[in-house]
Amino acid sequence: MRPALLLCLLLTMMTPTTIARNADNPHAPTAAATPVPPPPAWLPALEARYDAELRAAGLDDRVFTAEHWWTVTTPLLERTRGFHVEEIGRSVENRPLRHVRWGEGRTQVLLWSQMHGDESTASMVLSDLFRFLGEHPDDPQVKALRANTTLHFLPILNPDGAARFQRRNVQGIDINRDARMLATPEARTLKALYDKVKPMYGFNLHDQRVGYRAGDSDRGTAIALLSPPYNHAADVNDVRTRAIEVAGVIRTALEPYLAGHIARWDETFDPRAFGDLTTQWGASTVLIEAGGIEGDVQKQRLRKLYFLGLVAALDSIATGSHQGVSPALYRELPENGDVWPDLLVRGGTLAMPGRPPMKADLLVNFRNPLMETDGAIADVGDLGGKKARRTINARDLFIVPIPGHAGERTLIEANDDGDNDEPPSPPPITPGASAHFVLSRDPQGRDVVWTLDGSVDPAAPAPPSR
Ligand SMILES: [Zn+2]
Repeated sequence: MRPALLLCLLLTMMTPTTIARNADNPHAPTAAATPVPPPPAWLPALEARYDAELRAAGLDDRVFTAEHWWTVTTPLLERTRGFHVEEIGRSVENRPLRHVRWGEGRTQVLLWSQMHGDESTASMVLSDLFRFLGEHPDDPQVKALRANTTLHFLPILNPDGAARFQRRNVQGIDINRDARMLATPEARTLKALYDKVKPMYGFNLHDQRVGYRAGDSDRGTAIALLSPPYNHAADVNDVRTRAIEVAGVIRTALEPYLAGHIARWDETFDPRAFGDLTTQWGASTVLIEAGGIEGDVQKQRLRKLYFLGLVAALDSIATGSHQGVSPALYRELPENGDVWPDLLVRGGTLAMPGRPPMKADLLVNFRNPLMETDGAIADVGDLGGKKARRTINARDLFIVPIPGHAGERTLIEANDDGDNDEPPSPPPITPGASAHFVLSRDPQGRDVVWTLDGSVDPAAPAPPSR
């Protein structure tokens, strides 16, 4: 995989004559990437209308509860606009799980969002989609969808997780590893809806870690796609062929906006995961993952692009236009590669009270990487050629722990001590500790240049990266 990618890269950098000469050589590997066709002609116009006519109001902050989501979305789901809403289950904490149905066509499509409670982008997108379907009945794409498909939605499958903005449900179960055992009420509700609808197409809608790079590149993955395999051999049958075509349609739609930032997941079969099993059960399933776009801290730009990709995918199902789309458009996407950590403080001097100063690089990861909140020390020391999403040059600066956080240590470290009679250790700047330090021109931390007190203050600019 990696050598092949490198080769592609090298060949791309060669002159056209070189490529032509290689093309004459039957032993030369095929290197030229399949050209990505232009997006559907109607897509730029839809993008231009998005902010005024399609973006659902009240979802500007990506952290919201299911209750809030239903409050702002329910007015979009009127029966006169063709929507049918029915409660079909309850979460562990008794929050309603609802089935939204729209359309009059034969092709059944099932879409579910936020089975991981902190992955809210697709839930925002579904609100936008409801606005599109309900308020714009004369749009050609809406007409085709209404006539040819019936869309079934299960939004915010993990409302208890959403209430805490955490991945797992309140029992600590990853619902996307519960498709086989069906131990959670949330997974059982999705499976029951699947069995009732028997969809031809499925959309498994997620967010992924912001740090993922597209292949071996330095570019962050904004959107990742997967046609989940249905067996360990990752065979391709008719069901997967359709999913791979639809994934190609999504790439085509988004390439003008996100070229180089679209990746795909590897095809390791997981018999506990919903996408893998819905594929096995017969639904052409596409996994869509929203990664991140730097500076887009609430994922609002990514929300728009995700919406455009999803509409293009649904349109290709309604019109049948995905048939014959080259599988190379999906196959040639780089895989999700390394996960870059969030913040590297390079070349500083660690000034711990009562200890000699020490040269050290520092690595910090955030619970919310785009907003840079809830930071924790990930590594300290000579971090060599380590790369991060953001690098701060701390040469000539001291890293000084902020007083008041001396007792704040991770559970594991606290339990390691064995003997609790020891005096409290210096404020920790060690892996696992939460990140509370200043960058200062003096070792006492009086002449402060920048502060990281758990979260980054966006109003206080950091020293430049280089
Ligand atoms: Zn997820």
